[in-house]
Amino acid sequence: MHPSIEVGVLGATGMVGQHFVKFLAGHPWFKLTWVGASDRSAGKKYNEATSWRLGGTMPEGVANLTVEECKPGNAPKLVFSATDASVATEIEQTFAKAGHSVVSNSRNHRMEADVPLLVPEINPGHLQVLAAQKAKRGWSGQIVTNPNCSTIVLTMGLAPLKPFGIQRTIVTTLQAISGAGYPGVPSMDITANVVPYIGMEEEKMECETQKILGEFTNGSFHAHPMGVSAHCNRVPVIDGHTVTISVDLASDPSEADMIDAFNNYRSLPQERNLPSAPKQPVIYMTERDRPQPRRDVERENGMAVFTGRLRKCPVLDYKFIALGHNTVRGAAGAAVLNAELMYSEGLLG
Ligand code: NAP
Repeated sequence: MHPSIEVGVLGATGMVGQHFVKFLAGHPWFKLTWVGASDRSAGKKYNEATSWRLGGTMPEGVANLTVEECKPGNAPKLVFSATDASVATEIEQTFAKAGHSVVSNSRNHRMEADVPLLVPEINPGHLQVLAAQKAKRGWSGQIVTNPNCSTIVLTMGLAPLKPFGIQRTIVTTLQAISGAGYPGVPSMDITANVVPYIGMEEEKMECETQKILGEFTNGSFHAHPMGVSAHCNRVPVIDGHTVTISVDLASDPSEADMIDAFNNYRSLPQERNLPSAPKQPVIYMTERDRPQPRRDVERENGMAVFTGRLRKCPVLDYKFIALGHNTVRGAAGAAVLNAELMYSEGLLG
């Protein structure tokens, strides 16, 4: 028997909110019954308030929901948050205080010392901090976050290599325009061009990676000691962040060891067969010109990360490429998988 859990989406009318609506359609556990947005949209039907910008039509069932203000009131106990970062702190905390589990996509709480920055394959143990979060803040609810859309591609590419002792990494991103929301980067800036700056992205990648790959022991997070240097670029790709990674390792694995580590990487979401978990979370591609965003990013429902082009690095030890879907594995799909893990851990009441 599947559970049947009512869920809401805060910021449901925006780009990431629409991805939540699409990703949740037909979900075997979660039923979307509530949508929230700003007071500009509140009171309208979802299909009147939302300019649907995704492929395919708006899922049936949501079109006629009335958009609510982002206030707890009659919202379900589990809410996904895709609200604008300028308002996410207050809205998410208000919901947590009122007893809701907030599974957030916004950056606002990611680096706080009592908030998990969760990637279910990598750091499910970080959920242990929730008891302290509730006690310290006096909340009956809770906040859990997922990483920035480029960080998740990097961390999923690095996690299989952790047993080899990651010491340093240098990463360069080629980030899709959908990562900037809508309308995002002006077409005059991005068409046939590369923009070598994304505000605060490099800082986020560097510190989020250390938190995600770090440990939670003795009641606190201990950042992974690896050095991380990120160069972030916006490129004219619609969906899919590509990252090129050079890595320095403490041990001396062969190329075959590295490729086995990518392909055999499995964790709790796969063991528990969580509905949104990819069967194989990291897939190594052997073709010399893959992965490519246009050809590969939609595979595995957008939830796997594809690696390829592993070779020796003359400066660090190895270099390779990784690709992931920024608005699925890097946003809505990541948060839904987080909630599935929380349910399977008995953390959703
Ligand atoms: P967006 O398209 O601008 O959508 C923002 C949403 O927030 C809309 O639903 C909007 O409602 C709502 N909102 C704005 N002001 C509000 C207020 N005062 N009270 C309540 N709701 C309010 O932005 P987005 O690209 O979807 O990003 C949403 C969040 O996800 C941001 O925190 C962003 O940093 C994060 N994120 C985005 C991506 C990505 O790929 N785009 C990836 C990872 C994380 P109205 O329609 O009524 O204005």
